[in-house]
Order: sequence, then structure tokens, then C-alpha cells
Amino acid sequence: MISWCGPSLLDRAEDRRGDDDWVASQWRAPGTRVIAVTPDGSLGWAGDGPGFQPASGELSERHLLLGLLEGRAVFADVLPDLAAGRTLRAVMDGLSEPDLEVAFAAAGLAAWHSRAAFCGSCGSATAPVRAGLERRCTGCGRELYPRVDPAVIVAVTDDDDRLLLGRQPSWPAGRMSVFAGFVEAGESLEQAVHREVFEEVGLRLAEPTYLGSQPWPFPRSMMVGFAARAVGTALTVDNTEIEHARWFSRSELTAALAAGEVGLPMSTSIASGMIGQWREERLGAVG
Ligand SMILES: [Zn+2]
Repeated sequence: MISWCGPSLLDRAEDRRGDDDWVASQWRAPGTRVIAVTPDGSLGWAGDGPGFQPASGELSERHLLLGLLEGRAVFADVLPDLAAGRTLRAVMDGLSEPDLEVAFAAAGLAAWHSRAAFCGSCGSATAPVRAGLERRCTGCGRELYPRVDPAVIVAVTDDDDRLLLGRQPSWPAGRMSVFAGFVEAGESLEQAVHREVFEEVGLRLAEPTYLGSQPWPFPRSMMVGFAARAVGTALTVDNTEIEHARWFSRSELTAALAAGEVGLPMSTSIASGMIGQWREERLGAVG
């Protein structure tokens, strides 16, 4: 996975994007690039690369200024009838760090716009402002910003430093991963860690330790990673969200992977980063 712990490679130009003339000049500037995206946030990838195109035609509301990458503007072009291509999930493991940041920003922003067409307060139509980083209600003037749903993801280990992996029924055959779940209203991240793990496998945890975070725009999650030591090892699998869970020593996981019995999450994911760190005996800050 890439590092999400340092500054973003994408300059979102917060101080300039409210200036329509400046945004228009960026659209016309040589070197400006456009990434096509469907309203649901999946991308029309034709190949393994990001499929950037030069800007062409008139700047319109469907063009979202993602920001500047190495000084060059990058816009998303939201196209409802975009010809079918490969999805972001299908290509993300092969993207470079800057391309992945751009792709995640495009997917997350496009998915938010498509779900924010009407004001939740008065029901009037909303319209994009500030080159697409915000919407404003045409009725009551309320400002709307992209929403992010926090979810916790936790690497649970036991006193022998074995790692607990679980499997959700909907995953590809053999896929196992660390545990994750959405944060409830009125709940802290740490409380969510305790609750999710107890609900899914019946384990109590010692104090969770923060590892790092990662955007996960499918369509608008933020994965917040923790490590936690289990109090005890007996598992009571809920058989709903999790259908199977197992403790692995490092050698057991290596053998299960070699035998093809277990598959791990996509390498771009924070889950993969956490599992990789544990396998290298350095579970700590991810990134
Ligand atoms: Zn309104």
C-alpha cells in the first residue's frame, strides 16, 4: 500500500478554487488532465493506467477540480453514459501513488455529488460551487460538503502474537482479513473497535492503539486502523457478518497462503498493510 501518513500529493487549491476565472484558466492551461468517472464513482478504465485525457470543450458543472498534481490541474469529468471500462477496484493495486490519490479523490467526489442533488433541510435542488468541492442549496443557501463515513479496522493479536483473521460471506473464495466495521452515532473510534470485535467473534480487547488511516471511497468510507491485544482466545463467531475466524501464527499463515487455502485483501488496502506489518513483526504506524 502507499503511505497516507504524509502530506497529500494533491494540492486541492482551497484558496484559489473559489475564483471562477482562475478555475477557467486552469481548464485551458496546457498540461491540464481529465479523468473520466461515472456518477457512482467507478471509473471507465480502459487499461491498467489512469486513462487521463487532455481537457477539451467547455468547462461545465460536470467538471470537478480535484486539485493540482505537481502544479498541473486535474479535473474529474462525471459522465453518466461513460462506456463500460474496468472499475477502480479492478485496477487500483496497479496504480502509482499519485494516480491512486487522484482516482480516490475522483471516485469519492463524484459519488458524493450524485447523492447530494437535493438539500436535506428544505428539499430544494443544490448546485456545485468552488469547482466541485462543495454544493450549495438553491433554496435555503445551506452549504454541503463531501461526507465521509468512518469505519474502524483492527488487527487483533493474542498473547502469543498470533493474528486473528476472519471471513465475510460475500468475499471471494478463501479471502480472509482483519476486522472492520462502521462507527455508530455517538460512539468513539475505540468504542467501535471494542464493539465490532465483540459482536463478530466475542472477544474482549485491551486498549486499542491507533495505527493510521486510509480513504476508502466505495463510496465514502474512511478506514481508521488500530492494533489491539485480545483478552483470551476463545472465539464465538456471529455467523452473520463473519462466517469463519481463525488465529494464525506467522508460519501457519505463510503455509495457508502457499497452499492457496487463504487469500489476503488487495495490496492497496490498509488491511493488507496491517497484515504485512504483522508478518514482518513490526505492526505499528501504517504507512
Ligand atoms: Zn435548502
